Amino acid sequence: NDLMTKSDIALYRAKELGRNCFEFFSNDQQARIVKAREVSEEILWGLELGQFIPFYQPQFDAHSGEIVGVEALARWDHPDKGVLSPFEFLKVAEDINVIDDIDHDVLATVLNDLKFWEEQGISVEHASVNISSPRLRDENLIRRLKELQIEPGRITFELLESIFLDDRDLVVERNLEKIKQMGIDIEIDDFGTGHASLSQLIDMSASVIKVDREFVERVETSERHRKIVKMTLDLAKSLDMQTIAEGVETQAQLRVLKDMGFNIFQGYLFGKPAPIE
Ligand code: C2E
Ligand code: CA
Ligand code: CA
Repeated sequence: NDLMTKSDIALYRAKELGRNCFEFFSNDQQARIVKAREVSEEILWGLELGQFIPFYQPQFDAHSGEIVGVEALARWDHPDKGVLSPFEFLKVAEDINVIDDIDHDVLATVLNDLKFWEEQGISVEHASVNISSPRLRDENLIRRLKELQIEPGRITFELLESIFLDDRDLVVERNLEKIKQMGIDIEIDDFGTGHASLSQLIDMSASVIKVDREFVERVETSERHRKIVKMTLDLAKSLDMQTIAEGVETQAQLRVLKDMGFNIFQGYLFGKPAPIE
């Protein structure tokens, strides 16, 4: 029995690594699987108990300096381990197909928080949430979104550029179309690091491009990065899209990015993601 269990673990690992390969069993593999299983169970409990919550990072208008919105970033408010970042749960959540449930919970809380801010007289016009690719492929997505009664113009979905790696998918296209009809904007996240093609950029009619931190980081030191970012801004402008620079950490970066003509800034320089309080 032991031998069978252990060869199964090696087989699982080999499958993970792709086709046509072999793997020897190791205690490390076993430990990883036991750990992943534990985390999976905890995630399911966490969902049941509403432990997945948004943190908010402010976004600022380049001209007025006013807060124009927030990005909601998922956190796991774990009873023993404290607040955990997405890197500690998203991968496992994806493996056990609950990433869309987390996205759903985060969005529902964001909608409540927007109302709460409104009641407090705090003006947060707009929130962006991240949306995973399995969620975009979900046939039930639109029905679930309708239940939330989203006010048009107040929510943006951030799609990772890597979502576009796959070939055209009818469900995704239909979902995107309906999402836009509901008054939810589409934003391309991490632009420049993924796989969006120019034709997809046109077809999707996204309204915002968010330039990845990798570029923002190097914009003052590398002429080549500066040129690519400039080109991206020209592209966005010609398609009537807004531009956000994310991961802005220094005044020096900000100066360069401002001169380049970005519309919106976000980053540690202005504020780290923080709980609603
Ligand atoms: P992302 O959407 O690209 O989010 C930006 C990440 O950069 C966030 O990390 C944020 O805390 C961090 N960041 C913001 N400003 C700065 C800065 O000035 N400097 C540096 N060094 N980092 C900065 P976080 O919150 O750990 O999120 C990581 C990723 O997890 C996100 O990347 C997003 O892809 C994913 N994610 C977060 N929340 C959700 C969610 O609700 N659903 C889904 N599906 N994915 C999510
Ligand atoms: Ca994002
Ligand atoms: Ca990003």
